Amino acid sequence: MPQLAQRIGRAKPSAIMAVAEKAKKLKAEGRDIVSFSIGVPNFLPGNHVYEAAREALSKDSGQYGSNRGADALLDAFLKHIGEIGLTGYTRANCATGIGAKHVIYNLAEALLDEGDAIAFAIPYWTSYLDIAEIVNAKIDLLPCPPEQDYKITPAQLDAALARKPKVFLFNNPNNPTGMVYTREEIAALADVIARHPDTWVITDDIYNRMVFDGIGYHNFVQVRPELRDRVIFIDSLSKTYGMPGWRVGFMAGPEVVANAVTTMNSNHITNLPEVTVAAAIAALAGPQDVPTEKCAEFQAKRDQVMDVMNAIPGIVCPRPQGAFYVFPDVSAYYGKSHDGKVIANDIDLCNALLEAKGVACVPGSAFGEPRSLRISYTCPTPQLAPGLERFKEFFAELA
Ligand code: PMP
Repeated sequence: MPQLAQRIGRAKPSAIMAVAEKAKKLKAEGRDIVSFSIGVPNFLPGNHVYEAAREALSKDSGQYGSNRGADALLDAFLKHIGEIGLTGYTRANCATGIGAKHVIYNLAEALLDEGDAIAFAIPYWTSYLDIAEIVNAKIDLLPCPPEQDYKITPAQLDAALARKPKVFLFNNPNNPTGMVYTREEIAALADVIARHPDTWVITDDIYNRMVFDGIGYHNFVQVRPELRDRVIFIDSLSKTYGMPGWRVGFMAGPEVVANAVTTMNSNHITNLPEVTVAAAIAALAGPQDVPTEKCAEFQAKRDQVMDVMNAIPGIVCPRPQGAFYVFPDVSAYYGKSHDGKVIANDIDLCNALLEAKGVACVPGSAFGEPRSLRISYTCPTPQLAPGLERFKEFFAELA
């Protein structure tokens, strides 16, 4: 029998989905499950988005579209990123994809030859590792434990970039930690990047509209405009607009990179569907009250989750200021037992928590940090307090 490509041996299905599937199965069996597992925003976009989609359907051309992205979509995206200080870009600097994940995958193909190095922090969003493995890149992981608030330090980045990776992949606000870099922190990292001209920088900032406490969103190009020749900014409709299933992602960066992504598109997707494009334009250009309200709601939920984390002895949890994740270090509890079952690690802990209390979280090892677990707090508001109460009970019962 012929063999599959070696690449497929390196491809793995998402570890996050595995937890979500298990929780779904228990729910189908009639268990009362609170899901803190999957990173979906759990709200729908405003009506104007659906109206735009219906309108587009009524005028459907039925034709192929632009490989890069429709002009009107690129224009709406340019205006959108202009609002966060990313100005001076043109359509030629941009490209779209079927979600940010697809854009990142295209970038990996476009920037990395087999054996080229890509550097990124631990904890990382799971797909970074999986995509890097599929393209057979050399992966340089930079550990950022809770003691440094899960953030990469300038010294750490300096040492990593001195090894001359082809790509440095950065994520702010961060999944799984919810941490957000301050303007000073971004400026310090940008100074380091400026000293190492041989590395492309991908900054995956899809949660840039979900920042709390008034600290604002900052990026390398804002603080050092000359870095725009090497920095590729990633955005998406998924989280900001409650549209993960619509699959719209973007990049803005050097023309040569945007052209490469466009060429990749021309070879596998051709274009984003017309109705999706109309909905995306409406989301970007229309009223912004849904994302604004949701951001405020997430900040309040973050406070609720942090009150519980701070009340559980032994849990170490840097305070997140964005996205919708909290990433507590629960390793002080490893070696204890629950109902006679020894909890040796994050996976045992998440399994026992799900089985005993019906609370689904993702083990930190899915993100490269086995000391922690990820809580995604986008569940309906009435479920949050009872879910957290069960979480607290579980830890009180560990002995
Ligand atoms: N980057 C990060 C950090 C994410 O958390 C996600 C989604 N979980 C993505 C990219 C992918 O987003 P999209 O739905 O646009 O593919």
